Amino acid sequence: MRPKMANRPQARRSLGQNFLAHQGVCESIIRLSGFNCGDTVIELGPGLGALTRTLAPRVKRVMGIELDRRLIEYVEANEGFGRNVEIRNQDMLDVSYGGISRELGTRLRIIGNLPYNISSQILFKLVDERDFVDFAVLMFQKEVADRLLSVPGTKDYGVLPVIVGYCADISRLLNIPPGLFRPKPKVVSTVVKIRFRPPGLQALDFAFFSLLVKAAFGKRRKKLSNALKGLACIDEGLIYDALSACGIKESLRAEELAVDDFVCIANRLCETARVNVL
Ligand code: SAM
Repeated sequence: MRPKMANRPQARRSLGQNFLAHQGVCESIIRLSGFNCGDTVIELGPGLGALTRTLAPRVKRVMGIELDRRLIEYVEANEGFGRNVEIRNQDMLDVSYGGISRELGTRLRIIGNLPYNISSQILFKLVDERDFVDFAVLMFQKEVADRLLSVPGTKDYGVLPVIVGYCADISRLLNIPPGLFRPKPKVVSTVVKIRFRPPGLQALDFAFFSLLVKAAFGKRRKKLSNALKGLACIDEGLIYDALSACGIKESLRAEELAVDDFVCIANRLCETARVNVL
């Protein structure tokens, strides 16, 4: 017989532990996610298993990546996760999606109610490993989701929507009020679906494209020509040339450019300047 553990581990704020505590909302998330019964789904941060237990009966297999061993042991000693669920005690930032994808022989479908303090890192990691990911359904703090879904010309528009929007379609699935979590967070949460696809305009050098986008938004109040000065030691004349070749006025600011505009500038600079990004 498995030992019964009396006390549930205390939630750790440092690990973003706000657990879903409403079955109806778990059902809605899984229904809107679009998983099929033949899918193996990677769950980032299964915690006490609110989403896991709703998902597992509807798919072939769930592989959870959970950093907090206390939670894994607690669930195993109590109701368990079900026969088609495997939990790995690992940091989700160290996971190799390429490795898991090769292991499973398929592109990955991912779900996660994320620890909000590492949302951007998780997104950039997904983008880096996008070749191995079909889609990800992720819960963020609403402000982060609003930024991710923002369009040019708005105050929220920035690095995240450009880099993620380069290779994925992003859609809002639902907003979730703080009262449906334990402990209760201070903010509203939003579940977003990120479906990876080939880019509209392919970057010749993705690392340089990312660097350029970060430089442009690093000085978002400045004209683009000024914001890009000093980028990768590129001669100023080549920056003016790239803006002109892409039909972009040098007086524009980063927040006024669409994703393909950034790709066009980056590609032109790759062709004309000796760009060297590691
Ligand atoms: N999925 C559960 C739910 O919806 O109730 C828990 C979500 S809770 C917001 C975030 C979960 O991610 C916690 O279980 C936490 O321990 C786990 N976590 C935090 N940082 C992590 C990391 N770097 N790698 C793996 N799991 C992590």
